[in-house]
Amino acid sequence: MRADTTRDGGRTPEPSAMRSVDEAVAFLLGRSRPVTETESAALGEALGRVLAESPVAAVDVPPWDNSAMDGYAVRSADLDPAGAPVRLPVGQRIPAGRVGTPLAPGSAARIFTGAPIPPGADQVVVQEVCEVRGGDVELRAAPAAGANIRRAGEDLRAGARALDAGTRLAPQHLGLAASVGLARLPVYRRLRVAVFSTGDELVRPGVPLGPGQIYNSNHYTLQGLLRALGCAVEDLGVVPDRLEATCEALEAAAGCADLILTSGGVSVGDEDHLKPAVERLGSLDLWRIAVRPGKPLAFGEVAGTPILGLPGNPVSLFVTFCLFARPFIVRAQGRTQTAAPALRLPADFDWPRPDPRRRGYLCARLVGDEEGSPRVEVYPSRSSGVLSSVTWARGLAVIPEGRTLRRGEPVEYLSFTELLW
Ligand code: AMP
Ligand code: MG
Repeated sequence: MRADTTRDGGRTPEPSAMRSVDEAVAFLLGRSRPVTETESAALGEALGRVLAESPVAAVDVPPWDNSAMDGYAVRSADLDPAGAPVRLPVGQRIPAGRVGTPLAPGSAARIFTGAPIPPGADQVVVQEVCEVRGGDVELRAAPAAGANIRRAGEDLRAGARALDAGTRLAPQHLGLAASVGLARLPVYRRLRVAVFSTGDELVRPGVPLGPGQIYNSNHYTLQGLLRALGCAVEDLGVVPDRLEATCEALEAAAGCADLILTSGGVSVGDEDHLKPAVERLGSLDLWRIAVRPGKPLAFGEVAGTPILGLPGNPVSLFVTFCLFARPFIVRAQGRTQTAAPALRLPADFDWPRPDPRRRGYLCARLVGDEEGSPRVEVYPSRSSGVLSSVTWARGLAVIPEGRTLRRGEPVEYLSFTELLW
């Protein structure tokens, strides 16, 4: 799967040429094969799963006209046209879960939110403008047929599509499915992603650091990112910087996953073994992407399983995951919306020195200006090793190639809320 054999019709890039972010994403999306196997998930277990079919409402929602307020159901013809007080006998009481009897002309029914409107009534008068007088009620409301009544089928009609296939199920989708009476939903099986970190310097937290060692933070970042997207993670741990070990890990990963994601070792130094290992077992393109942070990125396949090699620098890993791994994964999960929508908001910073060739992604978050309108502020350090920048941030600001920016000018902002869903 070398660049010169791609099926995307793109020209073979020069070995030294850099790919733009958009080219890389388009290529990856073209290579991502959606899972086809489905399973049935109980509603209570379906959060974050991807809907495989579009369920249809079996009933009207709501099933019948009902009261939107606590108050009195009346015939609007019985009210005074100018809203002067009218006294009516209260003939019945209808709490939610009960069904009333037809409303006698010239009477009112005490009614509560969610209770069915009795036949004959065409308006609910809120209790705040009513006064109880013995067995009667005095209503101060003008006629307004339909007021405070929620109509049958106003949310969904029986037979209408309730949800769209390819949707990742958020809490509100589960609620809607329940409202049409569905106890289970057809979902795609979870995408299985095998992960390993490369690096002889890595040790796991919980043991003391030896000379030259650092804690393996990418393992946890990567697992968390994958779980946030609803993937099943196959953890292959840390792989030493040796060719044989890297080959073994890749073979194990290819045997148990839909996608292999790795951290580190994607440069072309003597200690970077991912490229030779993947080339021995399958094929690999090592890309230089016109992006900062995260220039090197590897994409290839081992025994038919796609592999994405992310850079080891912790910030680069996070950003390249969001930019490149996420769209690949999202499409492979069967989701229809692969792009995370961006906002354009005024910058709360200056960007005086353009980078002519690389698009910049800055750790960013929103801050309110004097009027409370959002602006995009960025973390002061751009070091790709400073993970604190990502914990400080709530999203990424995007600086296009060759652009400068003055405070107050619009800048694109990608929220982690969108990127990590
Ligand atoms: P590499 O991409 O392997 O050349 O690593 C680039 C930088 O990221 C080096 O400073 C590594 O020590 C660091 N690094 C690589 N892998 C990890 C990891 N799993 N956790 C934390 N830092 C890492
Ligand atoms: Mg390394």
